[in-house]
Amino acid sequence: MYHRSRFLDLVGQTSSSPQGFEISRAEGSWLYDQSGVAYLDLISGFGVSNMGHAHPAIVEAIQVQSKLYLHTNVYGEHVQNPQNQLAALLRSILPSSLHQIYYLSTGSEVIDAAIKLARSYTGRVEIVVLHHSYHGSTMAAESLRSDRAHTAHFLPLIPGVRFIHANDFEGLDKISERTALVLIEPIQAEAGVIAMDEKWLKALRSKCNTHGALLAFDEIQTGFGRTGTMFAFQNLNVIPDLLLLGKALGGGLPLAALVSSGELLASLAQSPALGYITTFGGNPLCCAAGGAHLKAMLQEEVLLGISIRSDLIRSILNNPLIKEIRIKGLFAAIEFENEKLVHSIVKKAREEHILLDSFLFRPSALRIAPPLNIPIEILEDACQRINLWIEEAR
Ligand code: PLP
Repeated sequence: MYHRSRFLDLVGQTSSSPQGFEISRAEGSWLYDQSGVAYLDLISGFGVSNMGHAHPAIVEAIQVQSKLYLHTNVYGEHVQNPQNQLAALLRSILPSSLHQIYYLSTGSEVIDAAIKLARSYTGRVEIVVLHHSYHGSTMAAESLRSDRAHTAHFLPLIPGVRFIHANDFEGLDKISERTALVLIEPIQAEAGVIAMDEKWLKALRSKCNTHGALLAFDEIQTGFGRTGTMFAFQNLNVIPDLLLLGKALGGGLPLAALVSSGELLASLAQSPALGYITTFGGNPLCCAAGGAHLKAMLQEEVLLGISIRSDLIRSILNNPLIKEIRIKGLFAAIEFENEKLVHSIVKKAREEHILLDSFLFRPSALRIAPPLNIPIEILEDACQRINLWIEEAR
């Protein structure tokens, strides 16, 4: 309690009811509290710890890089090998049109950079986004949020944002020659794992082509294996002009990026020069961690083990109180009648040392998103216990 009260006093809070979990260390799929009690992590830091905590290859890469150099200059001025190595790895697994990377530090920053790039490249203002998407908390990212009760506190928002509903063909008519950017998640995270339909996505791509609007996929939360393929769009057969990455990109350290063609990224260097500058974007320690993370994902072939784990969640969670299970890879939204049920399951799980959560725009759904390499028997046992807690919460 000593640490918790100091935390509440010394550290600014994001809400009046922080979870306040007192972490001492983390390893694999486990977080340990101050008394050494192990908690099973079924959230993965909201899409960050996809290879679990303290992966030895990531820790080693951080140690090696930290002895060479940390910060040397603002992003883009010095040649830094860790940036090249991560960029080359990404290029080797992405379509050829997404071959250059612009490093930043956080997801919200990438959203802002994508908006600036699109406005500068197209000379247009409007941005089309989905209802119930979370893209970040900076002013521009905040402006893409559809719940007006929240954004009303921060007016005025950036102008020209138009909302459409996921998979709504009529909504595509909002894309026009005034549209600079269409920015969507191929699988919406905070709406509670809502997948875009491939046909709709193809129609969206075609509208963007017709009107000369850029298409960006926010894969900040769905990237790096979370939904079963390295990136969600790879299962949907539509390639964006801009791929936005963050969270797991840095293997646990803050790193984000805009991935696109050399032609589009040149906007940030030429029209105008220094169009988006950043001190810490592409920090060498973060890039070294990110490179080790991606290399480990590929070498350990974690993607191959996702469907068996995904099927396990779906088959064990069969309580009649569950209204619907939406699951893509290891990203699951377990839908209930109301959020009260979800609250009591999350609370019970915490008492029994399992960390679960719900979704920002879908409080009636339980979030299950474990590290992709969680041992199968551990996941099986956790799902069986969750099933029991659902029964108790009835
Ligand atoms: N986009 C998506 C889909 C996210 O889930 C988030 C964060 O949760 C962001 C953008 C913003 O990222 P960050 O918190 O790193 O600014």
